[in-house]
Amino acid sequence: MKCTILSVGTELLFGSILNTNTAYLSQQMVQIGIDVMYHMTVGDNPQRLKEMIQHAYKDCDLIIATGGLGPTQDDLTKETIADVFGERVVPFPDQLAILQAHFKKYNRVMSDNNLKQANFPEHASILPNPNGTAPGFMLEKEEKLIISMPGPPNEMIPMFEQHVRPLLEQRSDGVLYYKTLRVMELGESMLETQVMDLIEAQTDPTLATYASNYESTLRIASKRKTRAEAEQAVEQMVALVRERIGPYIYSEEDESISSIVFRYLNEHRLTLSSAESCTGGSFAKAVTDRPGASAVFDRSIVTYSNRAKVEELGVSEETLSAHGAVSAEVAEEMARGIYEVSGSDIGISITGIAGPDGGSEEKPVGLVYIGLCIRGRVQSFRYQLRNSNRQSIRGNAVVHMFRVLYRELVIDK
Ligand code: ATP
Repeated sequence: MKCTILSVGTELLFGSILNTNTAYLSQQMVQIGIDVMYHMTVGDNPQRLKEMIQHAYKDCDLIIATGGLGPTQDDLTKETIADVFGERVVPFPDQLAILQAHFKKYNRVMSDNNLKQANFPEHASILPNPNGTAPGFMLEKEEKLIISMPGPPNEMIPMFEQHVRPLLEQRSDGVLYYKTLRVMELGESMLETQVMDLIEAQTDPTLATYASNYESTLRIASKRKTRAEAEQAVEQMVALVRERIGPYIYSEEDESISSIVFRYLNEHRLTLSSAESCTGGSFAKAVTDRPGASAVFDRSIVTYSNRAKVEELGVSEETLSAHGAVSAEVAEEMARGIYEVSGSDIGISITGIAGPDGGSEEKPVGLVYIGLCIRGRVQSFRYQLRNSNRQSIRGNAVVHMFRVLYRELVIDK
């Protein structure tokens, strides 16, 4: 089945709201096994809306529209769909009764405009909206199905899940199953090289590599008649991929490295603190973005200056002057310092050159040292990160801190 996702609303064109409906619906289509041909976004303009619907009608079997169902004059989705599908818009008595009851319940006066919300194309089937006043509807003609839902995500998503998804699952000519493998320390092009022959030979399952958040992911998908068949095909391909790049795969369940580390700390009742220089607290932010962080995370101290490193973490002046602030020695003393100050089971530290200035031949921009102290045992790790820009060096540095924790704690331990 081929589908167009159509978003209606001038606010979307202005960029004043983000089109999260399209992202959500596309992800749902992938899961159901429906091919998305187009994303269309159009303002509250009936002529252009009509052209978009005609275009989608010609190329696709399914159009899923959101927005423009409200009571105001510029909410014209219903009328325009009816026009393209050759339908009259008529009042639906049941819907009028529901609407009147709704207004009575909330002691609100119904305006004439609201009456419009009980009008639908004459052959439409109604999709109830318990979370708002605008119901959605479906309409079918010449084996073309259009589904129109309200714009607000808190109304659209429950409507989709309760009424639309089950229907589309029944009609979809296949079930898509996929797995997303997360890969570390293997760039996207290197990853592609390792599995190039599999990518080139693909029909089903398909393989695609993506780069996101400083790491690579590999998506393996299969569309078959049943979920069991699709799952089996994907698992066979995963096994082949594992043979090639097994040690680089850290998750086969699309789980982020920070989440794996976090889970490990929780399960083992370990506590963590950090001492940050070049990341300026971004590691602490990443940890505390997760709900439940307080169970594992004690503190982070941002020690940006040398003086702070000495005063807060007990880094020695001698080490600083002998090796410089960006050095393995200082990273190790920072890690031991935060371990001792906090009393956590694990202390992790970072010191580096985020740029754009401050690099040298010996210590270029992007050089970072990560120190780790686990129950008193101290180590450090040196990384030369790609010098793209300050923000991405810092983001990448945080990911490397999680990798160090993953490697030293989670793997084979
Ligand atoms: P209702 O009248 O029931 O609120 P509607 O169908 O008329 O719904 P719109 O007026 O088009 O919906 O949009 C209402 C609000 O819904 C927008 O202001 C926006 O906050 C949200 N919304 C609309 N479309 C989208 C979208 N594609 N992605 C995310 N949010 C959206």
